[in-house]
Amino acid sequence: MHRLIERFGKTVGDAVGHSPGRARTLLKVGLAAGWLQQELLPDRRLLPHERAVAAMDTRAVLQPLIRPDRSAMVNLFFPCELLHALGIAPQFTEGLACYLNAAGCEQAFLGYAEHAGVPPTLCSYHRVLLGAALSDVMPAPRFVASTSLACDANTSTFRTIAGHYGVPHFAVDVPGACTAETTAYVADQLRGAVSGIEETLGERLEEERLRAAVRSANRSLALHREQLRLLADRTLPTDLTSEMNKVFPTHVLLGAPEAEEYFRLLLEDTRRAAPSRGGTRILWAHTIPYWQESVRAPFNANGRRQLIACDLNVDTLEELDEARPYESLARRLLTNMLNGPAENRAGRLLELARGLRADGVVYFCHWGCKQTLGAARLIQEHLERAGTPVLVLDGDGCDRKNINEGQMSTRLQAFMEMLESGR
Ligand code: SF4
Repeated sequence: MHRLIERFGKTVGDAVGHSPGRARTLLKVGLAAGWLQQELLPDRRLLPHERAVAAMDTRAVLQPLIRPDRSAMVNLFFPCELLHALGIAPQFTEGLACYLNAAGCEQAFLGYAEHAGVPPTLCSYHRVLLGAALSDVMPAPRFVASTSLACDANTSTFRTIAGHYGVPHFAVDVPGACTAETTAYVADQLRGAVSGIEETLGERLEEERLRAAVRSANRSLALHREQLRLLADRTLPTDLTSEMNKVFPTHVLLGAPEAEEYFRLLLEDTRRAAPSRGGTRILWAHTIPYWQESVRAPFNANGRRQLIACDLNVDTLEELDEARPYESLARRLLTNMLNGPAENRAGRLLELARGLRADGVVYFCHWGCKQTLGAARLIQEHLERAGTPVLVLDGDGCDRKNINEGQMSTRLQAFMEMLESGR
């Protein structure tokens, strides 16, 4: 970690327990400075779509700190087209936790959460979010909204946060299979959530604004599908941070104009990319511990190794029906590869690996993510039976004190070499 960030993280961390207002101000200043730098002096080594997503994400994390009265705390999968139509900025678990990690202060929030009785076996993204909320460093959002997709941790985490702030919690239960009945069930819950949000805000969701958000999401999805089609035959140098950054436009910012602009740039960069000429192509499953040198080095040291995609960013690409937005959004949750039995994700990973011509899959088991851990063996067997090698890599995408760089590096390096020697 850079010494300046280390000092910044320590200053924020020192304030967390006794002066949450000061910690919040420091974070706001740090995020605003980072955003200005990304807008005015972007890293020229990055491609245009990568520069755009860095600035867009920083702004998305900053916005709820500036206007908490126009923000909501959500999980990654809550359909935020509903929020964009109401002018509400979403703050979400993995996004906020990654930024607090990047600011070098995640330990202070993990410590606060543990002190408050949150078990250390819980996913570290959730623990950081809980620490940030329970310490009051994060200001009270107007409401909390979550889905039971993709982890059972969502229900208790978001209920706890809403209870702490004394704000409404809109929870959407997502059954494990997509049928006409479950689609109607989830769509009704989404309508109920919107009614509750309207009551909380004292505002109506205008149907035309929701349709506009759905149209924007559809344009983004169309650009993304076209980009993935081209990517199968291209070498697009991918920075691991940028691939992780992509979870904002593929999820909580979907339906917002800035996400559309991002996908336009991504497609342009892919069109300009060189044809694929035999480099090693890796498909990544689950979150990316992008800040760990052991994971960055095998890709960065060798321009011929490419992380082509993270499965979270291509979990669902289906067009929405603007005439039936609630049913469409319900279907998107129900058909998500992370919903239902592990075979769903295994099938989707295989389809992606074939479609994107991946040489191998790295399946990352993030600490505390029970469903990822539980499905690891089944998914590995499914893919390997079909001829796609898999590396199951255990680690932590957020907690700096819970990583083993040496072991990660050795295993990842050996996997790459095995793929390369088999050619
Ligand atoms: S890593 Fe797993 S447990 Fe943590 S938020 Fe994501 S899906 Fe949930």
